[in-house]
Amino acid sequence: MFFLARVRLESLKKHYGSVRAIDGVSINIESGQLVVLLGPSGCGKTTTLRCIAGLEQPTMGKIYFDDREVTHLSPSERNVGMVFQFYALYPHMNVYENITFPLRACRVPRKAIETKVKEVVQIFQLGGLLRYKASILPPGDQQRVALARAVIRDPNVLLLDEPLSALDEKFREEMRSELGKLQKRIGITTIYVTHDQREAMALGDVIVVMKDGVIVQMGSPEELYEHPQSVFVGNFLGTPGMNFVECLYDNGLLFLEGTEHRLSLKRSDLFAKLSSYQGKEVILGIRPEYVSLFEKSFENGLSIAILAIEPAGRYRLVDFLIGERVFRVRTDWSLPLIVGHKVYLYFSEDHICLFDRSSGEAIVT
Ligand code: ATP
Repeated sequence: MFFLARVRLESLKKHYGSVRAIDGVSINIESGQLVVLLGPSGCGKTTTLRCIAGLEQPTMGKIYFDDREVTHLSPSERNVGMVFQFYALYPHMNVYENITFPLRACRVPRKAIETKVKEVVQIFQLGGLLRYKASILPPGDQQRVALARAVIRDPNVLLLDEPLSALDEKFREEMRSELGKLQKRIGITTIYVTHDQREAMALGDVIVVMKDGVIVQMGSPEELYEHPQSVFVGNFLGTPGMNFVECLYDNGLLFLEGTEHRLSLKRSDLFAKLSSYQGKEVILGIRPEYVSLFEKSFENGLSIAILAIEPAGRYRLVDFLIGERVFRVRTDWSLPLIVGHKVYLYFSEDHICLFDRSSGEAIVT
């Protein structure tokens, strides 16, 4: 198999009357990368994918596979492989008939079909399954059959739209891991649509976060998790998402709204970035695992009563109320904790993010 396409979207727009489904999306996807389009329902993920597939004509903008413009080519001229749901196999056909369907539909000669079948059977380990009806296979095998069918024509790019959404949670995790390994093994450029941030974090080389038809941030899972460029991204990624506290900034001090607490900042890079926020309101963001709990008072420790405790395997999620927002801390089991009792919260300053209160955009991450 031979795949090479880089995919480039240039200022892509798709408007349906007054609805701006996508409104200026530009992405550069390297050959062999798995790029996830992530965002809430209606943000334009599927429309972007359908434009790449050639199922929708963009209102404006251009699409390139390698250096060839494909914006106005038909889906078959673009040669993309698509899987919209792994269960979308032809249930009455056996595995052989399913995976060879795209070749038979194009009247590929029998000998060439047999060569391709050998190739995908080996990659997807389908050897013993060819004569079985697709409908009786377990989900893992169905997934491999669906992928084999999608790549048997050596597509330039593989497009996957919420492929795991029909599976229950446990299976979804297994399939996700299997899918990630397969994609790396075959090395095909892949664009994957999901609204599930855990799926995106687990699979994506690059995650493109979309909202209201535009890209709000793109980068590696780690970049997005550690350095969200907005309150929206900080909140959307992570289980649970980032905590936020409204604060007033004054000369190196953050006065946390809804508490008597003031946090004294030590990092000089924070002072520099906050210089224009003197006397203004900002939002402090911090992930649940970057807050520590202590029994005893110390400098910069915020004393606060526990609202709730939720066991979560190796960890517990401990809830507090700061201002009107629930603030969640992920902690191990070492400290005895009782709902209603006070503990001290310590915020790891290296992991503090600060956002502009009116725009929600990052000041420091
Ligand atoms: P979901 O996860 O719910 O599928 P999405 O992020 O994939 O959401 P899209 O399906 O791309 O979002 O839709 C983006 C916006 O465009 C939505 O407001 C949707 O209602 C609108 N839209 C999509 N297709 C059409 C269409 N054919 N006609 C009119 N509006 C459309």
